[in-house]
Parts: sequence; structure tokens; C-alpha cells
Amino acid sequence: MVWKPSEKEEEYFARMEFEKRKKIEEEKHKRLAEEEKKKLKEIHYLMCPKCGMELIEIDYGGIKVDKCSECEGVWLDAGELEAVSKLEKAGLDKLFSVFKK
Ligand SMILES: [Zn+2]
Repeated sequence: MVWKPSEKEEEYFARMEFEKRKKIEEEKHKRLAEEEKKKLKEIHYLMCPKCGMELIEIDYGGIKVDKCSECEGVWLDAGELEAVSKLEKAGLDKLFSVFKK
């Protein structure tokens, strides 16, 4: 098929238009995903991943330990397991005595 210059131009601009709109849609999707993530975080923040009840956050020497008010599960943030593992036995006992009834 032989394209006349004007048709070629039209194809080019249509393609440009499509690419432009696609980019706008992609940006919208990205924003939506971020909003969805934010919403999920708001819903789940400081909620027990196992039973969904409130977590009680305790700061122990810079280590934030979250303990569930319902199932008694203990949760650590990123890097905190490493910090806990570096505690001396005495420190570890003190940390867990916070939760003893
Ligand atoms: Zn729980």
C-alpha cells in the first residue's frame, strides 16, 4: 500500500495522540494503585495480621514490638528481629517480661 504524505502524517499524529492518552491512563493507574495501597495501610495499620484486632505497640529500647490485644501474637517491623536477636539474654528477658501477666 502506498501512503500519501498527508495520510502518513495523520497516522503519525493518531499514534502520538494514542501514546499521550495511554501515558495519562498509565499514570492514573499508578496513582490508583498508590491510593489503594494507602487505603489498605490505613485499614490494616496496627491491626493483627492473624486475627484483625488492635495491636499494642511497645517501644523497648528503640525496638518497637507490636503485641496483639486478642491472640497475643507478637509482631516485629523490618529489621527488628535482627535487633532483638542481638539483645543479651537479660535484655531479652526484660523485653518479654513487659508482656507477662
Ligand atoms: Zn491477633
